[in-house]
Amino acid sequence: MLPKNPVKMEIKETLRTVFGTLFRLLPLSVEPGLRFFGHPDDKSPVFVTANFDLTVKRVTKYLKDLDCYLLVAPTRGVNVWCAAKGGNFTAHSLISVVKTSGLSSKLVNRTLILPQLAAPGVDTELVKKKTGWDCKFGPVYAKDIPEYAANGFKKTDSMRRVRWPLTDRLDVGIGIFFPIFLAILAILAIFSRAWMSEIVILSWGLLFLMYGFYPLIPGKAGWHKILFLEALMVVSLLGYILLDGNQLNYIRNLFFMAMGLVILIGIDFDGVTPLYKSAFDPLLDKIGIKRLGPVDFHERAKIASSKITINQNQCTSCGICYDVCPRGVYEMGKDKQVKVVIKYPELCEVCEACIMQCPTRAISLKPGFKSKQGNP
Ligand code: SF4
Ligand code: SF4
Repeated sequence: MLPKNPVKMEIKETLRTVFGTLFRLLPLSVEPGLRFFGHPDDKSPVFVTANFDLTVKRVTKYLKDLDCYLLVAPTRGVNVWCAAKGGNFTAHSLISVVKTSGLSSKLVNRTLILPQLAAPGVDTELVKKKTGWDCKFGPVYAKDIPEYAANGFKKTDSMRRVRWPLTDRLDVGIGIFFPIFLAILAILAIFSRAWMSEIVILSWGLLFLMYGFYPLIPGKAGWHKILFLEALMVVSLLGYILLDGNQLNYIRNLFFMAMGLVILIGIDFDGVTPLYKSAFDPLLDKIGIKRLGPVDFHERAKIASSKITINQNQCTSCGICYDVCPRGVYEMGKDKQVKVVIKYPELCEVCEACIMQCPTRAISLKPGFKSKQGNP
């Protein structure tokens, strides 16, 4: 067989990356299975990731200088966090790829290193039972893998925490808004071409402003921030009218377009990251939209308003909940009676990772929690 043209391959991969970035909400899968980096032997680490194109590329970037294996699990082309929360990254996806990938049973190393954000979806006990492989959770971010490996495959606390830096915010913001933006342009192109350039400038200006300055926008997370921005615009318009009302019609139209765009761009400001609870599910539930296709907003809102609780009698102080919590909610107890403590309950985003991973089922959800989460 003739070798594939490397230039064509490069162009194809670049186009896939651009597509994946602009349409982040759509699945973009790569072939699941086993990959090699460097010169791995029977003691080399085996990392696991989801078969979302951008995720595999990102992980590859940080594994390429190690001697290791990468097991790409079938998650329907969805990224780790969304797949784990949405039921696409489960014990069964992992079991199937372990069994079919040719991951040698002769390896001395029998531990799979999963991305920490897979913890809400993968029942690691079931994986062990069906395959004989142990699972442990590596860092949240692929970029921490080299340091994690250099550190003897031990995580620091900062490797356990989800952060939402500017680049990630813009990455997610663009991926969520781009399809909406295309739909707006298509509607304008069919019904009226007027205001096209204003819409383009306003859309991207507001997107960069909102996602760029997200943590600085006053108010609690979610809809409170949207309402703050809307109020700011009302005040600006009133100020403009007081100062100069000559172009009132033009400014008024721009103002209404901007108000609409703020709502569309920020439609689920928080639900797009594992850092903050979605404000969208409780809102839809409250206005009577309980379900849309397979998405049960009522159930999601109910879970989001619950709080975690620990049965100390069942706790063995294994520390797994501490390890998998992306928000730093837990503290290991200092005496034998209290084994692990829910130190910062207000930070909990009810991702359910600790509930899924607790080996003694000591953690459960209690309904009716009102989050006191403030401005991040
Ligand atoms: S995971 Fe469960 S058993 Fe382990 S420390 Fe946490 S509560 Fe205790
Ligand atoms: S304490 Fe809350 S945020 Fe932390 S792992 Fe458990 S459910 Fe997730």
